[in-house]
Amino acid sequence: KRAVDNASEMTVLSSVYAGEIEPSIPDYVGLTAYLADGGYNVLQRVRSGELKAEDIAEYALAAGLRGLGGAGFPTGTKWKIVNDLPGTKYLTINGDEGEPGTFKDRVHLERDPHRMLEGALIAAHAVGVERIYIYMRDEYPAVLEILKTEIALLRENGIVTSIDFELRRGAGAYICGEESAMIESIEGKRGLPRHRPPYIAQVGLFGRPTLNHNIETLFWIRDIVEKGSEWFATQGRRDHKGFRSFSVSGRVKSPGVKIAPAGITMNELIAEYCDGMDEGHSFKGYLPGGASGGILPSSLADEPLDFGTLEKHGCFIGSHAIVVFSDKDDMRDVALNLMRFFEHESCGQCTPCRSGTEKMVALLQDETWNKDKIADLDVVMRSASICGLGQAASNPVASVLKFFAEEAGS
Ligand code: SF4
Repeated sequence: KRAVDNASEMTVLSSVYAGEIEPSIPDYVGLTAYLADGGYNVLQRVRSGELKAEDIAEYALAAGLRGLGGAGFPTGTKWKIVNDLPGTKYLTINGDEGEPGTFKDRVHLERDPHRMLEGALIAAHAVGVERIYIYMRDEYPAVLEILKTEIALLRENGIVTSIDFELRRGAGAYICGEESAMIESIEGKRGLPRHRPPYIAQVGLFGRPTLNHNIETLFWIRDIVEKGSEWFATQGRRDHKGFRSFSVSGRVKSPGVKIAPAGITMNELIAEYCDGMDEGHSFKGYLPGGASGGILPSSLADEPLDFGTLEKHGCFIGSHAIVVFSDKDDMRDVALNLMRFFEHESCGQCTPCRSGTEKMVALLQDETWNKDKIADLDVVMRSASICGLGQAASNPVASVLKFFAEEAGS
């Protein structure tokens, strides 16, 4: 079924790029409307020198803004690191959004693209980069059209001057969402993750210091400067700071992108933002962070959903991609499905991941799971894989063994 789905999706995309089908462009806030609402005023203040690099970094730090692509690194700290490095620097923007269940960046760009573009220009001026590379997944043809159109308008209107954008299309590999693989891909090479150190902040795109951001991180910058760090910081619950865009799918009445307080719990998110569970379904468990963030049972739905809160259960929040399961879902199937995804998406560079995901799929297909073999393979993949894909691929399997052992038949 997956092969058929992929084939039909590719047919549609090929037709779009051959010009046979126009991508359907949703209504969005264009440049005129964005300017009328005070858009690009913050950028103007940065360009005029009224707001300095340190000021913007302080705004981000006080607001508690963190990298919202999954890693959660404090944004202001990243700016300070790159700002202090001499010579040519670049800004890369990761719009690959390949984590299963994640679609928040697409929604933000299809509604209000200039909020991200202004955030990017502010960041670029603040740390003194020469060029901004946007790496956008090819499966989002409407977003690509919107960005092409609006960046051209920014040039025509003199808003983009010396620091320009370059829009790059990703070719659909999940691994190119990993920052160093994305950089390899932008450089025109095969998207293979790099060994670290050195980190890309020091040796990144074309060997130069590189500031890398997720779409949503940049999306919040204008609001934080205009409304103040305090405004953003006080939006969270249980001492967590700011908003998070949760991509919610699965067995809830109203799925979609939910902009909710950081630190909200799963029970609160379902009740307050998703109109409860779907008719005839009772809440059984959830993916808190897409395919790699593990699986939690409904008995752990009162944990705050944020960076650093779920690790004690072997899970993590990542890009805030929530998939809700009910009593109608088989957790063995969920784990097998996710492992097949990782097997398919492994870049093949290192053996623990390339062979490990394949072997794990075989083990998960057995009627009764062999816990010892699974545990051995889990340790090898976690400790010896080069990048996060191989290191986290067995998280869902470990979760099923921990929280849904009766379904694993072990
Ligand atoms: Fe590639 Fe997997 Fe190794 Fe990452 S862990 S470098 S995806 S083979």
